Amino acid sequence: MGRKFFVGGNWKCNGTADQVDKIVKTLNEGQVPSPDVVEVVVSPPYVFLPVVKSQLRPEFQVAAQNCWVKKGGAFTGEVSAEMLVNLGVPWVILGHSERRSLLGESNEFVGDKVAYALSQGLKVIACVGETLEQRESGSTMEVVSAQTKAIAEKIKDWTNVVVAYEPVWAIGTGKVATPAQAQEVHAGLREWLATNVSAEVAESTRIIYGGSVTAANSKELAGQPDVDGFLVGGASLKPEFIDIINAAT
Ligand code: PGA
Repeated sequence: MGRKFFVGGNWKCNGTADQVDKIVKTLNEGQVPSPDVVEVVVSPPYVFLPVVKSQLRPEFQVAAQNCWVKKGGAFTGEVSAEMLVNLGVPWVILGHSERRSLLGESNEFVGDKVAYALSQGLKVIACVGETLEQRESGSTMEVVSAQTKAIAEKIKDWTNVVVAYEPVWAIGTGKVATPAQAQEVHAGLREWLATNVSAEVAESTRIIYGGSVTAANSKELAGQPDVDGFLVGGASLKPEFIDIINAAT
């Protein structure tokens, strides 16, 4: 079976209740392909998850933007994987570069989070990506391989994992990777999975691209053989997100 196209919308730390209402309305009214063709997952801030989940068209799913690394308890300010499962939230984004860089999440910590979230029944969008400095020094594949390895060492089953390749220099900068740049890293990640996990996992795991994706650049990126979808930040708050959902069709 082919890899189903996957479009995630990462709202980050944005939105008021009114704005959330408007975005949900836009999403609910948009013309989109059947969920058999494109899987759509939107990720509002925690506080809006229940309302978005209850108001969103049923074929769209929701994701949390993070969760705690182990069972909940005395961890002030954290939200556990069990709570998300209890609320019926099916997905979580883990290892986003903003959390890696601003909150010091290491490769190992992200690997532990992915393993724990999966063990609780969540599906995971696991983010990897290099900084501009790392790209310019030629270490892109080394960096994303190490990030992927830290996850691979902690999990066995990749069925519920989507890998998001998000070059840090492209996130929120308007400097999107060229289709060739994205394809090169996606193919490299797939090869890494084939060599280090299994041919089956490499073939079936979706590798999506994130970083300044817009309606204007999404079609060409979606045409790359190893680009299986997108994780969209800024543009996921705008009506053009509907066009991005339609990019592969
Ligand atoms: P962006 O963010 O689309 O605003 O660049 C992408 C992301 O951080 O997931």
